Amino acid sequence: MKFNLNTAKLFVPDGLPDDKALARTTHMAIGAHPDDIEVMAFHGILECFHQQKKWLTGVTVTNGSGSPRDGVYSDYTDDEMRAIRIKEQKKAAIVGEYAAHAFLDYPSSAVKDPDNKGPVNDIIELLKAAQPEVLFTHNLADKHETHVAVALRVIEAARSLPADQRPSRVFGCEVWRDLDWMCDKDKVAFECSRHENLQMALLGLFDSQIAGGKRYDLATMGRRRAHATYHSAHSVDIMTGTTFAMDLTPLVDDPSRDIAEVIKGFIDRFSEEVVSSITKLVSK
Ligand SMILES: [Zn+2]
Repeated sequence: MKFNLNTAKLFVPDGLPDDKALARTTHMAIGAHPDDIEVMAFHGILECFHQQKKWLTGVTVTNGSGSPRDGVYSDYTDDEMRAIRIKEQKKAAIVGEYAAHAFLDYPSSAVKDPDNKGPVNDIIELLKAAQPEVLFTHNLADKHETHVAVALRVIEAARSLPADQRPSRVFGCEVWRDLDWMCDKDKVAFECSRHENLQMALLGLFDSQIAGGKRYDLATMGRRRAHATYHSAHSVDIMTGTTFAMDLTPLVDDPSRDIAEVIKGFIDRFSEEVVSSITKLVSK
């Protein structure tokens, strides 16, 4: 597999040749940083775990070198931080039994630059080689700009493929800002109840991010549990873990649709729901 940057690489946990490793892909998760996939796309990881005919390929677009650091990592240079984060992501690819994991190695600034076509072209090559049926990436209302930029590059790449080669479903998932606010009819709820041990194992591998005092492992498990309980007020808990996603499939199926307008539609419907509930309940 040849990427735009010569520092980019593909890691295959079971050592299969790159083309064979990618060809078995059914699910792909594309995140900005090491650990994003494990936070946002566990549903996809679980669907493929121990399955002979379902395989997830992970893609990390940035090099993650600028992340905050503390504790044993406080003296790490940016290059050392980049190396440790790649190592952690490779551990997750092994534990989660991914088909492959691509490290595209861009600085955040390159991903946020709409004129830099490198990230889009790399994602196009990966989509062509892997042809995933289901694609997970960041949601477009995330508050981390690099996450939103990655989602936009993913949509651009998927749109550029012939219609019959595009993924059948594309989901924008939660990391920085959850999607609890979306109207229920607009959001997709993924069950993440099973294999809590695997969920915790995968999240716990990213020690360089957690040791500095950001308990992403506990916060992510807590969010999944909270979503499962608070998703429906009138039924007992059936799930113990839930993640939410924005369905981005219509944006990929129809490249003429305005991305910002579609997301504004989600926000407008949420706004209308809140305002109409208040209007109904106040005295006139
Ligand atoms: Zn991230």
